[in-house]
Amino acid sequence: MRSRPVRRLSWCLALLLLLPAACSKSRPGQPAARGGPALTGAPVADLDGAVDAGRPAPASGPVDDLLASLRPGVRPGIARAIGVADLGELSFYDIDLRLDPDAGTFEARERLDFHNRTADTLDRVVLRVYGNEFGREGEAPPVTLQSVAVAGAAAAVEHPGPTTYVVPLPAPLPPGRRVVLEAVFSGAAPRQEPGQTGMLRQGLEMIRSLFGGGGGGIEGYGILSMGDGIVSLAAWYPVLARYFADERRWDDEEPAGIGDVGTEDLANYRVRVRLPGQATVASSGVELTRGATPTDVTFGGVALRDFTVLASRTYAVVERTVGETTVRAYVPQGREPFAARILDDAVAALEVYERRFGPYTLTELDVAAAPLIGGAGGVEFPGIVTVATMLLQDLSESFGAWLPPGMNRLPILDEMVEFVVVHEVAHQWWNGLVGSDSVRHPFLDEGMAQYSSVLYFEDRYGPERAARAADRNVKLNYHVYRLLGSPDGPVDRATGDFSGPLEYAALVYGKGPYFWAAVRKAIGDEAFDRVLHAYYERHAYRVAEPDAFARLAGELTGRTDELLALHRRWFHEAHGDEDLGTADLGQLLQLVIGDSAAAGQLTGMLQGLGGLDGLAGLLRMLQGSGGADGGSDGDQGLAALLQMLQAGAADGGAAPGMPLLPGAGDAGIDADGPFGELGPLFEMTRALLQPLAADHPDIARLVELLDRMLRGEDVSLVELLPLLLQTLQTLQSTYGLDGPDAGVVDPSLLLLMQQMAGGGTAARPSGRTRPDAGLRP
Ligand SMILES: [Zn+2]
Repeated sequence: MRSRPVRRLSWCLALLLLLPAACSKSRPGQPAARGGPALTGAPVADLDGAVDAGRPAPASGPVDDLLASLRPGVRPGIARAIGVADLGELSFYDIDLRLDPDAGTFEARERLDFHNRTADTLDRVVLRVYGNEFGREGEAPPVTLQSVAVAGAAAAVEHPGPTTYVVPLPAPLPPGRRVVLEAVFSGAAPRQEPGQTGMLRQGLEMIRSLFGGGGGGIEGYGILSMGDGIVSLAAWYPVLARYFADERRWDDEEPAGIGDVGTEDLANYRVRVRLPGQATVASSGVELTRGATPTDVTFGGVALRDFTVLASRTYAVVERTVGETTVRAYVPQGREPFAARILDDAVAALEVYERRFGPYTLTELDVAAAPLIGGAGGVEFPGIVTVATMLLQDLSESFGAWLPPGMNRLPILDEMVEFVVVHEVAHQWWNGLVGSDSVRHPFLDEGMAQYSSVLYFEDRYGPERAARAADRNVKLNYHVYRLLGSPDGPVDRATGDFSGPLEYAALVYGKGPYFWAAVRKAIGDEAFDRVLHAYYERHAYRVAEPDAFARLAGELTGRTDELLALHRRWFHEAHGDEDLGTADLGQLLQLVIGDSAAAGQLTGMLQGLGGLDGLAGLLRMLQGSGGADGGSDGDQGLAALLQMLQAGAADGGAAPGMPLLPGAGDAGIDADGPFGELGPLFEMTRALLQPLAADHPDIARLVELLDRMLRGEDVSLVELLPLLLQTLQTLQSTYGLDGPDAGVVDPSLLLLMQQMAGGGTAARPSGRTRPDAGLRP
């Protein structure tokens, strides 16, 4: 039987490229480059000054019913831990949300009782709707703020950027005073194309990100979107901007990089969610009351850093109660078999982390499937974490019969799901409870979440398996990046100071986590356990400084100089290769797919493409065409690749060892057919290109090859691939694209891939501004 190399190549590329980004960041988006912790210490309230606006604190109304979100044992000490006399001192969001889960549209009113806990008298309040960074090109931003009133009077709101709303106060608000803002807003969660959350499509998007320059921020990873029958509302409501205490100003800079958008201050929340008909809602906080209609639920909680809502008509729910906490898993129709497993992983993680760090504080923990995209495996929010629906499917859904035998559900994929779940659950401690500045110092909560996940594998399965999980889910990020020829560098940088998602993943997710392993090795297991508990105790409900862990470890062991040196080595210097070693592509492939017959076939096929070095070179070239390093000319890498392949073709068509594409046989091409998602992809590519064939011989030839494939004949990859690349360039040069990035391959490639995988709509999601990008025949 003839081998089917291409399917394995695309699979391999997709998986290799997916892995680095599988554990996504919280609140993806674009941060301001600088800023201090948003959580300021509670200043002494100035109650004596004459004020026209503002009331003395605390006066936010009773929060008693919201205390249901907290474990009883936590309640007595929490105000002191936060640094307030009473929990009512925190700012209070009271939101009334009406959501249409079929259309993804919503209308809402928000009453924000703002307590000025800064040390400054304020003449304005800045609100942010970070979700407006995630809209689609050419469409209105997802959320529209219709009006804001301050202390009952309409305010003249300035809107200097897509996510920023400056609300002037009628009178200066001294520290310690409160003022009520009322906002009316509506929105529509951007709707994903059918199949957009599929594994194959996501692999293609990761490849695209290699072409896409150093921007990152792929559609906000779908945290505010609708897909797979799920509406995901994150970053959806006007939230207080970060306040930079050291600079005495609000953060009013538009996001411009990668990573988190900010660190929200602790606040109390009450959110009423109303939907027509029956639907299941998963959210931060806990359910407080239910109304008369089928879906009218009020949720709430105290001392939360954010509030996220997901809803679906098809969510199946399983739950288990552990001590004072109920853990729930939500999965949509068709993914039910995964519910019990992610529930089990979350429960096990809860138990490990409570033992290792300290108590989980909330009475509820939700794990919800969400239509994440852009390679994100999961995202964390207070009291709720999401897992990409992409991970809750068998590979055959994407790859159909092109999948090598025995690879339908790879052990590594299962391990990845588990790793994602427990990583996100760890964020309940490192970010949810112990705050950190995830814009200036993202390594802190991400590194601890990664290392916590390794501890979970160790405690649940033993050190050997933990080491392997770490190699695949942590270290691999670093090795793949280094293999692409990109340089090691310091880890402790602001999100905007990384060149792109690959470098961010490599250093923040791949290298930094091993600092904690190094500390543990230096001070021993017992001392390390003590430091973890003490770190939790000292910083819960506060914001930890970047070197707080090293300082505390030094303090508790009397070895401060040594531990601060370790901190510098791992976070400010570049010793990655020395500390983590290096790996070649063969080792990485083996790590990913293990020793199997399929791995042998794959290796054989790779030899035909110039061996492992050839594939590494190909990846380097792809990245060189505008990838994470930036700097190189947009088309160079692609041109070189083209040249190489054409040279191969000229050497005699099917050069020895060069692979052939198999034909489709008589099977017919549809999504449920033997080719999975690849079937429609071929079909749509052909349909898309057919009208252009008359004017372009290259495209005509490509269409002919696609026809032959669909008829069941074998096709030479050597001939097909250059034609495909040539076609991309033809589309680019002939039909042109507007915007500042015209001239690089990315826009046309993106468009084509969207056309291919999404069924032909030209809508272009973007967190970046490329006006009017689109094909103009
Ligand atoms: Zn994370």
